[in-house]
Amino acid sequence: MTTRVVLASRNPHKIEEMDRILDDAGLHVEVVGLDGFADVPDVPETEPTFAGNALLKARAVCAATGLPAVSDDSGLCVDALNGMPGVLSARWSGGQGDVANLELVLAQLADTPDDRLGAQFRCAVALVLPDGRVAVVDGEMRGHLVRAPRGTNGFGYDPIFVPDGGTRTSAELSAAEKDAISHRGTALRALVPVLRELLPEGAAG
Ligand code: IMP
Repeated sequence: MTTRVVLASRNPHKIEEMDRILDDAGLHVEVVGLDGFADVPDVPETEPTFAGNALLKARAVCAATGLPAVSDDSGLCVDALNGMPGVLSARWSGGQGDVANLELVLAQLADTPDDRLGAQFRCAVALVLPDGRVAVVDGEMRGHLVRAPRGTNGFGYDPIFVPDGGTRTSAELSAAEKDAISHRGTALRALVPVLRELLPEGAAG
């Protein structure tokens, strides 16, 4: 038996990524996105934490679909900015888009010495079941920022973030290289044992 789980996203790449990770783990879970569901409300991310926002969205999607729901929230946390932009990462420049967001972060760090540009990407993934049970897992990717954007892969702040252990920005990594070390990949892999435990017998593989 295959259990269906709804991922609170309309992004086909996110849906494929989660499907691949669960499949690799031998879970019989079919991941579907929000596109098949007309009545799911758009949920504003109003909570001050990644876990809070992920739970908000997963609760709303579970209530609207009646299916187990998974949602993620993520962002960049810069040490010298006391963890900001954090949950405000997508809106840091007031809704002007990815390039304006990273340019604003770089401007805010103009007087910060190079050896204090440490940062991390963080991600929380929430699972909400129709019977009310919830679980939240998270992942992080440590690294540092560079002052000039490099690379064309990825999105968001990837062109100014160099993950620890390498010299390339995450926009210079392939999707597979990034998935293997990313905050989202780590969180999704942490969800596997949780799904194995909480989903009905048939999903366990
Ligand atoms: P959300 O989790 O889809 O709400 O994304 C939050 C925001 O955090 C994105 O719009 C990006 O600005 C930033 N972000 C999250 N994950 C990444 C990543 O893997 N690379 C670059 N930026 C990211």
